[in-house]
Amino acid sequence: MSLTPMMQQYQDAKTRHPGMIVLFRNGDFYELFEDDAELGSKLLGLTLTKRDKHIPMAGFPHPQLERYVGKFIQAGHRVAVCEQVEQPDAKTKLIRREVTRVITPGTVTEEELLDPRQPNYLLAIHYSKSDIGLAWVDLSTGSFWACDSTPEGFADDITRINSAECLISDSTAEKLPEELQRILPRTRSRRPDWTFDSSTAVDALKKHFAVKSFAGFGFSNDQAGLVAAGAIIFYLQEMLKASLGHVRKIEPFFSKGYLMLDEVTRRSLELTRTMRDGQRDGSLLSIIDRTVTPMGARFLHDAILAPLNNIEHINARLDGVQELLSEFALRGELRLLLDATSDLQRLTARISTRRANPKDLAAVQRTLRQLPKLKARLAGRKSALLSELEGRLELCHELREAIDSTLTDDPPFNPSDGGVIRTGCNTQLDELRSLASEGKNWIARYQAQEITRSGINSLKVGYNSVFGYYIEITNIHTAKVPADYIRKQTLKNAERYITPELKEYEEKVLTAEERALALEQELFAALREQAATEIPRLLNTAEVLARLDFLAGLAELASERGYIRPILTEEPILEIIDGRHPVLDQTLPPGTFVPNDAALHPAESRFWLITGPNMSGKSTFIRQVALLTLLAHVGSYVPAKYALVGRTDRIFTRVGAADELNRGLSTFMVEMTEAANILNNATPNSLVILDEIGRGTSTYDGVSLAWAITEHLHDYVGCRTLFATHYHELAQLSETLTALKNYHVQVTEDHREIVFLHKISPGFAERSYGIHVAKLAGVPESVLKRAEGILTELESRHALPEAQRPKLTVPPEKMKKLKRERVITGPTLFTWDEGPEETK
Ligand code: ADP
Repeated sequence: MSLTPMMQQYQDAKTRHPGMIVLFRNGDFYELFEDDAELGSKLLGLTLTKRDKHIPMAGFPHPQLERYVGKFIQAGHRVAVCEQVEQPDAKTKLIRREVTRVITPGTVTEEELLDPRQPNYLLAIHYSKSDIGLAWVDLSTGSFWACDSTPEGFADDITRINSAECLISDSTAEKLPEELQRILPRTRSRRPDWTFDSSTAVDALKKHFAVKSFAGFGFSNDQAGLVAAGAIIFYLQEMLKASLGHVRKIEPFFSKGYLMLDEVTRRSLELTRTMRDGQRDGSLLSIIDRTVTPMGARFLHDAILAPLNNIEHINARLDGVQELLSEFALRGELRLLLDATSDLQRLTARISTRRANPKDLAAVQRTLRQLPKLKARLAGRKSALLSELEGRLELCHELREAIDSTLTDDPPFNPSDGGVIRTGCNTQLDELRSLASEGKNWIARYQAQEITRSGINSLKVGYNSVFGYYIEITNIHTAKVPADYIRKQTLKNAERYITPELKEYEEKVLTAEERALALEQELFAALREQAATEIPRLLNTAEVLARLDFLAGLAELASERGYIRPILTEEPILEIIDGRHPVLDQTLPPGTFVPNDAALHPAESRFWLITGPNMSGKSTFIRQVALLTLLAHVGSYVPAKYALVGRTDRIFTRVGAADELNRGLSTFMVEMTEAANILNNATPNSLVILDEIGRGTSTYDGVSLAWAITEHLHDYVGCRTLFATHYHELAQLSETLTALKNYHVQVTEDHREIVFLHKISPGFAERSYGIHVAKLAGVPESVLKRAEGILTELESRHALPEAQRPKLTVPPEKMKKLKRERVITGPTLFTWDEGPEETK
């Protein structure tokens, strides 16, 4: 069936924007057709009808555009808005339409659609022969990164970046590895292969930055990450149809500069989201965030996910925090000034894409007004980082003056509403405005004059958009209507008239008003252009504000919660006195959290084996040690009395796996995958925390695996490890493993009730009190009694005499020579003489 010309137009727009929802402007409505209409009806509750009898159609009134676009984007869809680009008139049958705007989850810059406290990344992935190139850009702020990832590391990179949308080439999409399938964001935009062609893409990138090579940015020219970055540039140029002026540098992301955190660790330590409901509230981030600007909040967010790994850089941050902590008044004033600023990063992005409205420029102005005071307050700081930030802060005087002299004090949102440009800024505008307002006065005078002339007191001059100005006279006075009035409209109780005089003035008023409005828009656009020339300086200043807010926020946190400055050292040591769990420290009633010490040294105590009943505080303690280590690497103070923290290259965790079940993997499989990752990748500088191993299998399997894993980490890897377990059998390992120390959580019994003291002390737990915990949980008395009976029976049968305890077949000194991979792939690296016999 042949399409109507309008539907043909629609189909063309659809073909040019594959995979996107096309919102097709038709008069006062936006319409959706075919599958889009069905989706709109399902997702947004739009009423489904039919066009030309058979094409599914839905629509909504045009003022609702932003609201519906927002809903599509939040659901992960990409939207193309197809507008009417010429005025409808009787002669033209078909109005020209064009896609004027494309909005996708990874390219939105609209404030209403973004979380101010979180970055919004668009990611591109490029498979080269040897590497996996990644590039990611936050278009709402202009920050742009690229790196070459590895087959082992790219999953961690991708989940860390946590992008809203990703670009992959058609051929990659066709053979998308299973692993990638799971971790990619739901919005996946397929792109033609040529946009990922290495020389074409890199050339596009060079052209965008106007450079011949990327050495100046810290890249080598043939990096796979740069190809991904070029593919991003193609996409943005094609999609956005607007300037990318705020994307002015690309930074290499060197994972070596950061403390590595894999996906599992980020999730299980609840760094930015809780495991329970995936919300920010309750996460480490939400607990330590004292920033007062969205820029600072986003900086902190990224800093937690990528802590530093260079002591000098960490100390630079700590020095800044320390100075702001000790200078109470300075910190207070800086935070007040920062609080009065607006989100300069996202404002600048909107200036660059020419989407900034008058209120946005007013917000830039408010921000710029704080800068001189900020700079003055920062002058003469001791900390190198603070004085560097002071030096980098650019006041952007000229722009501020331009906005001051152009913009009204409280401009409207929409430039076409008028009232944007200040009186005195432009003489032509002032003239048009007085003409318009004089015209209005004239009409008031005219009304008074006509009342006198006609003797009709109720005579009114009114205005509507169809007839313009008119004189309205109620029917009782019809007889008195002057002869020169021309009747225009008849209402129920009144008649409306015009006069040549009235029309002449109307012309003057209206054209003056119209011209004034048009001129205002022109002047506003010019001001925005001027702001656009300042983009590099605005972005630089925004970054300074973000960093300052980050440091001041950490100082505020340290002051409020009594945190101390950690001491960083190259030795793989960890000494903590009276450490507290940052989250429980704030959420438990004051004074109830029991602080604990940790002391891990390479030679004598790098492996802590912690036993104790369930609910006694083992998990809390090991997570606390990991979180304190992480905070120290972020450059934050830590909740403790003393902390000596050895530089850490990675933190690994293997804790709880309940949430993995819905990925279709068994608990045990998940545990073992995580364990394999740790055994394969941990180095002597890593920190490993293990919360139970082997729970998902039979006790004997479980103990054996836990035992072998302990030996491997202790002997072969030699990293700092905290292992919380209820396998009391493992305590025996302290006899053979010199740097393994037993610890337990103290418990006392009070009238056969157990009391958890939450205190970690040397030695191992004698009992696991499982039956007591079951009692606390409300398991019926009869079941508890029976369980106690069985326990006594089993314990008597089961005690392992010395001779039967597992022994190593490979002496420790030989173990180090064995190939590491064999531990997980090979069958029996750690064989025991004889396993304990299974009780039948
Ligand atoms: P486990 O891992 O031994 O089963 P958890 O670490 O999950 O125990 O702790 C159980 C509960 O005990 C926590 O939710 C917390 O309320 C409390 N708790 C743990 N450690 C402490 C502590 N140091 N001080 C106070 N309460 C604690």
